[in-house]
Amino acid sequence: MTQNIDTSEAVSECNNLLKQGTVFRVHSGNYHVRTPDGQDYVCKLRGNLKKELIYSTSGSRARKVVDAKKRQVTDAIAVGDTVNFGDTQLIIEEILPRHTDLSRHSPSRRGQHTLVANLDQVFLVFAATEPKPDLWLLDKFIVVAEAAGIAPKIVINKVDLLNGDTSSIDALFAPYRAIDYPLLYTSVKSGQGIDEIRQALPGHISAVTGPSGVGKSHLLNVLIPNADRKVGEIGSITGKGRHTTTTSELVSVVGETVGWIADTPGLRQLEFWEINNLDMALYFREFLPYMNQCRFNDCSHQEEIGCAIHVAVEKGAIDSRRYASYKQLLNPQPDY
Ligand code: GDP
Ligand code: ZN
Repeated sequence: MTQNIDTSEAVSECNNLLKQGTVFRVHSGNYHVRTPDGQDYVCKLRGNLKKELIYSTSGSRARKVVDAKKRQVTDAIAVGDTVNFGDTQLIIEEILPRHTDLSRHSPSRRGQHTLVANLDQVFLVFAATEPKPDLWLLDKFIVVAEAAGIAPKIVINKVDLLNGDTSSIDALFAPYRAIDYPLLYTSVKSGQGIDEIRQALPGHISAVTGPSGVGKSHLLNVLIPNADRKVGEIGSITGKGRHTTTTSELVSVVGETVGWIADTPGLRQLEFWEINNLDMALYFREFLPYMNQCRFNDCSHQEEIGCAIHVAVEKGAIDSRRYASYKQLLNPQPDY
């Protein structure tokens, strides 16, 4: 019989009792978490976890406190986070490291605001016609996704309007196919291609973005019917009535494994994201094989002598329109 209680063991035993789940909704300090068995819990965040999150972890000054009060206003947890929590007190004890962190500067909250954590694929939706595809915008979306480490998949919706002749769209998007971006043709109207998207969802946190009028809302409605009803149900479980407004939410899609779709307004406006110019070339994947062949180490791949990317464009190995997008992104005009 042991009388001694080893506290470290007690703690680790306690950790074993923690449940793990995905935060799918954040609302007024309540974190809605779903475990892999499909159970939902409404948790609070442990106070000292908030404190831990106000430490900077970047660079050599790791764990230096960066302005406690200001940072505290920013969300410590975002939808998409994987968390460990105790299922009796419903307190989140641990937040697992994020694979991706789509965050933007939030002037109103004075800090970085994470829209979605662990987002791993984004469907960039354009219409085959009505409106005509804006490839400049597509390039911008791709850069934002690449910069965040999120896999972009291009969806061309409204293919029903082409009356069976996809040749113009095939030609327009050939440069993207050539650099291995997945390209899906869909029609929410006829149902074409919708199953392909559905099959890509389980096991991922996905988002749908694109310009207005291309069919995003219709696509989301077929992928996640009854999404509104689910929000209402969660409201009644917490006993706080129906919440029809929410800042962030992931909606689950049923498959062999659960998948999630993030549908927050900010995600539909990826075009306003800021990207660091120094890193821009890294997000044009077809540039990568040439990048270290430029004469100057600090080549910005614009007008420099001996720029291997410039040469590749002239030879036709890199699509000249994509290259024009690159230069446009480096030197944005006020109109954009
Ligand atoms: P959003 O602004 O991207 O959310 O676009 P909406 O979902 O509101 O759709 C814009 C318009 O396109 C609506 O009038 C839809 O009926 C229409 N639409 C959406 N998907 C399709 C499609 O696959 N084919 C056709 N012909 N029209 C579509
Ligand atoms: Zn260069």
